[in-house]
Amino acid sequence: MSAAATEIRAFTAAKFDTPAKFTQFCAGGGQPLGGLIGGRTVKGSMNATFETQDPGSLEVLATVCEMGAAEVDLAVDAATKAFHGVGGKGWKHTSVEERVRLVRKLVELCERDRDVLLACEVRDGGKVSELAEGDFGQIRLCAEYFCGVAGRAEMGDGEALPVADGMKGFTYREPWGVVAGIIPWNYPIVLTSWFMFPALLSGNCILIKPAEDTPLSALYIGKLAIEAGFPAGVVNVLPGRGEITGQAIAEHPGVRYISFTGSPGVGQSIMRTCDLHGTRMKREMGGNGAAIVLADADPQMVARMIGRYTNQHFGQTCCTIHRVFVDKKIADDFIDAQKSFFNELKIGYQAEAGTQLGAVVNATQRSRILRAQEEAAYRGGQAILSGGPAEVAGRSGYYIKPALYRTSPGIDCNPMEVFHTFATICPVGSAEQALQLANSTPYGLGASVWTRDLARGIELAKQFRDGTCQVNCHNSIAYGLPYGGQGISGGPGGGVNCEETFYDYTQTKAIYVAEYPS
Ligand code: NDP
Repeated sequence: MSAAATEIRAFTAAKFDTPAKFTQFCAGGGQPLGGLIGGRTVKGSMNATFETQDPGSLEVLATVCEMGAAEVDLAVDAATKAFHGVGGKGWKHTSVEERVRLVRKLVELCERDRDVLLACEVRDGGKVSELAEGDFGQIRLCAEYFCGVAGRAEMGDGEALPVADGMKGFTYREPWGVVAGIIPWNYPIVLTSWFMFPALLSGNCILIKPAEDTPLSALYIGKLAIEAGFPAGVVNVLPGRGEITGQAIAEHPGVRYISFTGSPGVGQSIMRTCDLHGTRMKREMGGNGAAIVLADADPQMVARMIGRYTNQHFGQTCCTIHRVFVDKKIADDFIDAQKSFFNELKIGYQAEAGTQLGAVVNATQRSRILRAQEEAAYRGGQAILSGGPAEVAGRSGYYIKPALYRTSPGIDCNPMEVFHTFATICPVGSAEQALQLANSTPYGLGASVWTRDLARGIELAKQFRDGTCQVNCHNSIAYGLPYGGQGISGGPGGGVNCEETFYDYTQTKAIYVAEYPS
């Protein structure tokens, strides 16, 4: 923490000019954008379309065809054929070197069309450029990490063991076959990459179901995958609503594995559906992140750092900080500093220079957040900043003011994930009390401790009931370390971005071989 407190600022927009290539892509030659199945564009048999819009201006960016159960059938069929191939030429037979070559080609094409993919994040996703650029960088980082894992992963036959007289046994590891990624709207490029690269490199053919609010990046990446030379049916993209397209994927017995990222309620429901026919699943779900600030921390500096993370993507980040437990001795100074930071946030259109707090993704989220702000007060929180709707001149998007509440132990006015720049601050008498309160939630995604005493910080961090525990930082992610949740925030599955993630996309069988009886 070497930066001066005043230098710590919220993620900020540079002016973003929409590239003509993005506009041209969205226009679809005058036709709604179709799904991508078996290497072809498919309009869908439901004859249904939906519009995707810029949440900051409500401009309709594109009309997209909705894929129904029939298209899910088609995609599973195309992916199954691509997986097995004809005459030993399926994706499952393709060498690791060839898979790596195609993945790297796809990354190159994404980098060639960087401005289009940034436009997907900024315009369709409502993100400020500073964050969108960071997200874009994850494409290469993720691909390279999993290319490395694929090169050293042990697939196929394991070591043979003598298991009985005249009998040996060994393991056989192989890809599942057809796997699906169900993606939320808040980090479309990052989460598509986190799913797509390990799934493809381990030898699966994939179905990507992007969120209804942000379908454009997955459709564009699917188009680039075709250009990169992935065989038809290896990469399929199925835009549509969760309850139609997503549900049809969950119900399809031909989908052997699903990677779901989204809210706990939807994840629980998909898991129940999958269980009916034995589809396996990994789930990365929402959180209600906590931060503990010890008495030795600088309240001004830490308040600004916590403010930066609370406001990351306007609070629409799964692991971000929404509950702060601060030592009583520094609580007043901390609260004043956090209030100033929230008050300084520049509310505006996400593609205009200087914006730090843009519009939330849709009208439903807007009303959920406004209701949660009211409920926080109703449940006993003292409003420091009460939130409420915000106006941005000349823009009709879903704008909301940040909200900050003071609370005390025993008053839980923030029990659910509120996806906005929304935090409660609870002064506490000890670190142990803070830990007990921080862990009193069914969520368990990310939490942090802020202190000059690193040894004490690590000792406390280890006691969080969370998948990612941090000291003097938050929202950190590194390839090689698992990112996953405990409690209702995650599982099963080994988290994302680590070696185990790669193996999640594979299955292991035991093979026993006995001598032929004489
Ligand atoms: P949802 O759970 O509403 O949706 C996630 C995805 O599931 C979307 O593609 C959605 O489609 C689809 N879906 C919805 N209903 C069904 C269904 N019945 N069957 C199959 N698929 C369905 O989450 P949000 O999109 O609102 O995303 C925000 C949530 O994601 C937050 O809770 C956030 O914390 C969490 N998240 C977790 C991360 C992690 O790594 N742990 C990372 C990022 C976000 P549609 O869009 O059409 O509704």
